[in-house]
Amino acid sequence: MEMNIIETINRFPDQSSCIAYLEGLRWQNEPECPYCKSKRSSKRHETYRHQCHGCNRSYSVLVGTIFESTKLPLTQWFLAISLILNAKKGLSARQLSRDLGVNRKTGWYLQMRIRKAMQEGEDVSLFKGIVEIDETYIGGKKANHSKKKRQARRDNKLQITGYQDKQPVIGLLERDGRIRLQVVDKAHGVTIKPIIEKTVSKDATIVTDGFGGYAGLSKIFREHQVLNKDKEQYARGKYHTNTIEGFWTLLKRGIYGQYHKISARYLQSYLDEFTFKYNHRDNRLIFDVLINKIAAVT
Ligand SMILES: [Zn+2]
Repeated sequence: MEMNIIETINRFPDQSSCIAYLEGLRWQNEPECPYCKSKRSSKRHETYRHQCHGCNRSYSVLVGTIFESTKLPLTQWFLAISLILNAKKGLSARQLSRDLGVNRKTGWYLQMRIRKAMQEGEDVSLFKGIVEIDETYIGGKKANHSKKKRQARRDNKLQITGYQDKQPVIGLLERDGRIRLQVVDKAHGVTIKPIIEKTVSKDATIVTDGFGGYAGLSKIFREHQVLNKDKEQYARGKYHTNTIEGFWTLLKRGIYGQYHKISARYLQSYLDEFTFKYNHRDNRLIFDVLINKIAAVT
């Protein structure tokens, strides 16, 4: 279910409501012993634990999950997840801590764990149809990025002119579908192409601008549409990169609204959060999907 904050508080007012929810997700309400897999047990309500009739050990739904090893009440976890999912532009760790009434360290920990669960697995299917690909630079001072980018490219000085403090990010967007965002050391073919090949189906039509880093993609993919933006060509019918560019605008508004400076590692975790939300934007079960990933037995 997609829930706002009030709904989350009403639905999960205490530890037992959270436990009941997790038991439904994990066991479909039929407890299974994590040690011997027996389904014969009796409930020990007062501690949310089950007494196994197979191996005689007791267990709860939290055994083997991240929730077992942290002292935080489940209500805090659930609320943190809801706050993060509902923050369209993202939420700083500082703000999350304030909203939850926990210290900064705890807020940071929650944010990093939840973002980690938001990472897409390697098992996702390849992007198909029209795929828009573009790169951008994040960090440093606010500036006219696109104008600077074009000028730097023209001068062939991408790594030199004013980009030392900025992180290049490559974005791939499946039209009407999913997105993938990856921080790279340097924006050039050697770093970009493996990401594209790993993400996009060979049958797809790729749309990019004329950046040299994209040269040679027509040999790998069915079709490569190149827009000549230096000559003000921003679209050729359905072939454009407007969707990914609109996404960059939203992303940067979120980042520059909250962060002074953002490290490469932290930037990737921020991108993971944005990606997860985008890729599940029409999924009414986004809350369940995320809880399931966080509560996965490791
Ligand atoms: Zn057992």
